[in-house]
Amino acid sequence: MRSIRCLALAVILCAGLIQRAEAQEPLAQGAVLSKPATAATKEKNAAVLKELPFQNREDFAEAQRGLIATIDPPVIRGASGLPIWDLSAYSRFVNLDTPAPDTVNPSLWRQLQLLTIAGLFQVTDRVYQVRGYDLSNISIIEGDTGLLIIDPLISAETARAALDLYYKHRPRKPVVAVIFTHSHVDHYAGVEGIVTGEDVASGKVKIIAPEGFLDEAVSENVIAGNAMGRRAGYMYGALLPKGPKGQVSAGLGLTTSLGTKSLLDPTDTITETGQEMTVDGVRIRFQLTPGTEAPAEMNFYFPDLKALCMAENLAATFHNVLTLRGAKVRDPLQWSKYLQQAIDLFAGDAQVVFTSHHWPKWGHGEILDYMSKQRDLYKFINDQAVRLFNQGYTIIEVAEMIKLPPSLAQEWFNRGYYGTVNHNAKAVYQRYLGWFDGNPAHLHTYPPSEGGKRYVAAMGGADAVLAKAAEAFKQGDYRWVAELVSHLVFADPDNRQARLLEADALEQLGYQAESGPWRNFFLMGAQELRVGVFKPGGESSLVSTEIVESMGVDLLLDYVAIHLNGPRAAGKIGRYDFVFTDIGQTWRVNLENAVLQYSPALPGAAVEATLTLTRATLNDVIGGATTYQEAVQSGAIQVTGDQAAAAGLFSLMDLFDPWFNIVTP
Ligand SMILES: [Zn+2]
Repeated sequence: MRSIRCLALAVILCAGLIQRAEAQEPLAQGAVLSKPATAATKEKNAAVLKELPFQNREDFAEAQRGLIATIDPPVIRGASGLPIWDLSAYSRFVNLDTPAPDTVNPSLWRQLQLLTIAGLFQVTDRVYQVRGYDLSNISIIEGDTGLLIIDPLISAETARAALDLYYKHRPRKPVVAVIFTHSHVDHYAGVEGIVTGEDVASGKVKIIAPEGFLDEAVSENVIAGNAMGRRAGYMYGALLPKGPKGQVSAGLGLTTSLGTKSLLDPTDTITETGQEMTVDGVRIRFQLTPGTEAPAEMNFYFPDLKALCMAENLAATFHNVLTLRGAKVRDPLQWSKYLQQAIDLFAGDAQVVFTSHHWPKWGHGEILDYMSKQRDLYKFINDQAVRLFNQGYTIIEVAEMIKLPPSLAQEWFNRGYYGTVNHNAKAVYQRYLGWFDGNPAHLHTYPPSEGGKRYVAAMGGADAVLAKAAEAFKQGDYRWVAELVSHLVFADPDNRQARLLEADALEQLGYQAESGPWRNFFLMGAQELRVGVFKPGGESSLVSTEIVESMGVDLLLDYVAIHLNGPRAAGKIGRYDFVFTDIGQTWRVNLENAVLQYSPALPGAAVEATLTLTRATLNDVIGGATTYQEAVQSGAIQVTGDQAAAAGLFSLMDLFDPWFNIVTP
C-alpha cells in the first residue's frame, strides 16, 4: 500500500497543515472576536428572504428521500485523536427548523440545512449513496456479486466509515470496481479505505476512470500547489470556527475531511463517448466530458437501472468557471454543450439523476428541467460576458452588470453557493481576454504596498483614510471600506486600527455572502487581519509521496525548476546527471541563464557531478522535509564528481512558505 506522508499540496486544501494547525488551535477558538451583524447587514439578509422562493421545499424532500440511516458515527477521529470529520460541529447550531441568524445569508443557510441531511440513502433499485461524510458523496451500485463504488471521498477514513454504514444495512458484498468520475481529490483520495492496491493488482478490483485522469490528478497538485493550498485554506474556511459567525459550509458540501489520502492507478480507461462496459452484471454507458468541471471527467448511465450519474457536471449550485483557490480557467461553453449531449444521450430514458455532490432528482420532467437549466446557466454566463466585453465593458464592469434572468435565478440549484455569477463572469473575461482590461492606466500600476503609500498620502494620511473609511462603514458601504483601508494596511501593516476596520468590513461582507467560498474568504481575511497568520513552525511544502510515485521525471523536474531562485542563479553554469534508482532512469540537468533544462541523459557527455537518488528523496529536499546536506550524509543522495558543484545547485533552490501572507504585505 502506498501511503501518504504529509500533505501540503492538495488539490483543494492543505489538509495536513490545517490538521496540524487545528491541533494547536490558538486562533480557531476564542482568540477571534467576531462582531454581530450590523443594521445594514441585517437589512440585506432580510431582503433575501423576499427575493427567493423559500416556500419551495422540494429540495428538502429530495435530500431526505430514501433515507435508510443517519450518519453514525458523526465524528471520525484520526490516530492523533483529532477529528477527521465532525458532523456534530454543524448539528450543534443548525437543524432543519433553525431560522437563519442575521450573520448568515438566508440562502446560504438554507443550503447548509440541506447539506446537513446526512446518511445512507437508497437512490433507486441497486443504487445507494452516503451523503454528509465528506465534501463529496460516495455512491454504491449493487452488482450481481459485489459492489461498484463511485467516488470514494477525500480520506480513507471517511470512505471506510461510509462503506461500513452501508454494510450495517445491506448485504456485505465485496467491492469489485471503483469508478473515479474525475480528477479532483474529493473523488478519489479515499480509495484505499475501501480497496487495497493488492486487490487492484491481482485483478480482483477494477479501477475505472476517464482518459487523462492520472496525469490531471497528479499535475494539478504540483506546479501551483503551494499557492492553491494556501488559498484553499481561505476558500474552505478550514481554520474558522464553525457556527453562525464562522464557517457554515463550502456550498458544495459542508467541508473537507482531514484524513489519509491515497491514489490508485486506473486499470480501465474510458476513452470515448458511447463506450460501454458491463461490470459484475451492471451495464454502464459512458460520456466523456473533458475540459468541463475538471480536465478529465465523465458522466455515465446505467440503462438497466435507468439511473444517470452526472459526476460534478451537474450540482445544486452554480459551479466554478474559475475556482477562487486558483486553477486554470474552465470553459462554460463546452460545459454547456456536454450537458446538452448528456440530455440527448440519457435524459429521455433516465428516471433518476445523481451526482457526486448534493442530492438526486427523480422523474423525467425534473431531470430535464435540472439539466437544461444548468446547461443554460453556463451558456448564459459565457454569452453575456462575451457580449458585454465586445461592447467595451471591462472585467469588473462585466461582472457587475450580469444578472441571471428570473427563470434561471429562481431555481435553487442555480444559486451561487460555490461559483457565483460575479466571479464566473470575470472568469469568462479572463478566459478570452486575460487580466488586462485594455486601459493603459492599468497596464503598469504600482504593487499594493507602493500604491498603498501613495494613495494614503494623496488622501491626507492614515488618519484621514481611517476617518473616511469609518464614515463609509457607518453607511454600510463595506466594499469601499475594504478597498480603501487595504491601501493603508499595505502601506503600514502595523496600523492596528486599519487592520481592525478592514476586518470589520470583510466580516460584514462575509455575513452577507450567498456563496460559501466568498463567506469563507471574507471571514478568513478578517481573522488574519485581527490575529495574524498562524504559522506552525518547521513546515515544509512537500508533494505527497503518493503523487511523486505517479509523477513522470519530467514533471518532477518541472517542479524542481520552479524552485530555482532566478536572481541568485544568474551567471551560474553547471551540468548534472540525476540517476533515479527507483525507476532506473538517468536525466541530464543543465543550469544556464538562470534556468534549468533537462532531458534523458545521453551517455558520455561531461558533467560536473552525478547524483544518485530516488524521486522521493529529491522531493524531500525540494519540499524542505530534509536538507541536501542531510540527504548526502545519510546516503540518500550519493554524489560523484564535484561535490561543491552539486551542493551549489541545491543552494539555489527556494523553499515555499505554505502560510504566505494574503491580506497583508
Ligand atoms: Zn468534487
